[in-house]
Amino acid sequence: MLRTLRTLLALTCSAVPAILWAQVGAQDLAPYKNPQLPVEQRVSDMLSRMTLEEKVSMLSGSGWMESTGVPRLGIPAIKMADGPMGIRLWTGPSAETSAEGAVRTFSSTAFPSGIDVAASWDTSLARKEGRVIGEEVADVGRDMILGPTVNIQRTPLWGRNFESYGEDPYLSGKIAAAYIQGVQSEGVIPSVKHFVANNEEFERHRIDVDLSERALHEIYYPAFEAAIKEGHAWAVMSSYNKVNGVHAAESPLLRQELYQELGFKGFVVSDWGSTYSTAATVNAGMDLEMPGGPPMQRWLARANSKDAGNDGGYLVPEKVLPLVKDGTIPEANVDNNVSRILAVIFESGIFDHPHAGGVAIDTAAQRALARKAADEGMVLLKNENHVLPLALNEIHSVAVIGPNAAVARVGGGGSGLVYNKDVVSPLAGITNRAGDAKVRYALGVALPGEQTPGTAASPQELLREAVAAAKESDVALIFVGYSWKLETEGKDRPSMDLPEGQDELIRAIAEVNKKTIVVLNSGASITLTKWIDQVPGVIDAWYGGEEGGNAIADLLFGDINPSGKLPFTFLRKIEDSPSYGNYPGENLKVKYAEGIYVGYRYFDKHTETTPLFPFGFGLSYTTFAYSKLHVPKTMSGDARAIVSAVVRNTGARKGAEVVQMYVADPSAMVDRPVRELKGFERVELAPGESKTVTFQIDRRALSFYNTETHGWIAQPGRFEVFVGSSSRALPLHGTFNLKN
Ligand code: BGC
Repeated sequence: MLRTLRTLLALTCSAVPAILWAQVGAQDLAPYKNPQLPVEQRVSDMLSRMTLEEKVSMLSGSGWMESTGVPRLGIPAIKMADGPMGIRLWTGPSAETSAEGAVRTFSSTAFPSGIDVAASWDTSLARKEGRVIGEEVADVGRDMILGPTVNIQRTPLWGRNFESYGEDPYLSGKIAAAYIQGVQSEGVIPSVKHFVANNEEFERHRIDVDLSERALHEIYYPAFEAAIKEGHAWAVMSSYNKVNGVHAAESPLLRQELYQELGFKGFVVSDWGSTYSTAATVNAGMDLEMPGGPPMQRWLARANSKDAGNDGGYLVPEKVLPLVKDGTIPEANVDNNVSRILAVIFESGIFDHPHAGGVAIDTAAQRALARKAADEGMVLLKNENHVLPLALNEIHSVAVIGPNAAVARVGGGGSGLVYNKDVVSPLAGITNRAGDAKVRYALGVALPGEQTPGTAASPQELLREAVAAAKESDVALIFVGYSWKLETEGKDRPSMDLPEGQDELIRAIAEVNKKTIVVLNSGASITLTKWIDQVPGVIDAWYGGEEGGNAIADLLFGDINPSGKLPFTFLRKIEDSPSYGNYPGENLKVKYAEGIYVGYRYFDKHTETTPLFPFGFGLSYTTFAYSKLHVPKTMSGDARAIVSAVVRNTGARKGAEVVQMYVADPSAMVDRPVRELKGFERVELAPGESKTVTFQIDRRALSFYNTETHGWIAQPGRFEVFVGSSSRALPLHGTFNLKN
């Protein structure tokens, strides 16, 4: 309701007729104040009124989460909040609070992590989540959310895999664009991060990524491209790492790729402490250095920040002004950078309608969306003999076991972790739903570094207790995996293995209970091969947000039908990773020697290495059949090829299927992936129902990046189209001819 009122107010204000403007006095006729004028006109008018000092002041922040405004001209400071999957909120004004010593507030909706959204393959869900997150940002009086994270999963060990949208550029781009559209629909600025090739936490401030022009274009840029071209993103965050020898914040790629190639019209904000120079950074077009002001001074003063390579404090007026005056930084560059920030301040509406805040968040409707998101994202990896869903008329007791059973693992660690006081653990969700069935809880094993709640038992006793609970129960549900301390920004995982004692726990339980189901919390592949053959059921529940415990109960008891699909290839072992041998790098240099062969692109080429579960894979409680692929015979000029296929629910339950379309160019003049995802759609189907799914293929979908011409080429000839339910289950196949 409040939202509707605010929208109405915004519309009314921006619809003030020109005649009214004429009546408000000469001073107020200033073009920059007139919301009816085009943004470019307002920007150039504003710029012409600003002193050099005022312009330069806008290039750096005034606080931990706040840019610098110019009160004389009514330019607001942009108030930011960390994210992306909900607001990571601290008390106090955004100018003053910093992670150090600040008090957390526990009020915003904690959505499932990014990898969970990607696993839903549901762009309309991502858009809704973005809208609610934007709504909450505005409702707490902030203007910008620091997300989405669109960096590609290159190695399963990256500490921030849980924030990402997986290994595929196309899927990542579609989810990112939808999220951005949602956030921006609320007049809130997203920040697409981290540009670019920020794919490991190891020495993240100093690591130099050595990668090819082709890999940049085909793998690491496209999600940013979709964010800009389809999402029309208002801001991009530059990364900590170096790219081909140059810090991202001063890289020529900002100009070449973002501004020129992709036509980005928003501004670039630095990652926190990712600037390392003054003139080179301003001249590169890196517009806003963050953080700033006293919190940054305190931060820099901490000895360990410098040791870790943290830097910053380069775009402060004391450093920038002398360089403008002596011509090292042309004033035109300052003007360009400030113009981009101003354009977003006008475009987003925060100049005309500041976000006042004070509105309640984490409402019932917002929580309901968090639950739906968790429901849609979970991936059912194994379901032997239909062990799931659990039928409560057949089951009289359930053992709920493991370090992640009684504690809600809401999200991974770092700036993406959202705190909420009202979180639902799997144990709570299952107890609520289990009706008369007896629920027995046992910790089994504690997470490294965690207290064992309510018990001082030895590891042997904990294991014995869990085995006894499993033995006496009809079903054993084991909740294992990581926590925000173990999978986090700032450090990579030491290995793909489960934390200590969890494999042993699973094996011991599986020996005494045939109906053992393992539920995982993680953002990437985990070594499952030590026990997967001994258990009939495995679910990846990622980090499910505040409603994760209810969502897992929804899935276990069949209130929902699982429909999530893997947004990355689930590896058997770390040695199978395409990045193996070239991670984390040596002497602060990491070579992306696998080039464009990331994820399934690698496994489809090197068929001697089989993934545990392929990209796009996920089971359902129902079955689907594919038929009637229609592919046109030819495609020419700028026309698009329209491909369609029919998918039918052939089982007895309603469910959703993610129909995936892959395209191959078998006779390309360069080495190309065996096939690449170029379309997908999540369709909900009642039993017996069928739907026709339609995809459009444009020339770009058929192109590779040619490093001789530095452009995209779709080479005429025969192309193949595959449609199905995963990158390795593609029952429909057709071909067409591409003509000039
Ligand atoms: C992270 C960013 C985050 C920023 C502000 C950095 O350490 O890399 O993703 O938005 O901090 O908290």
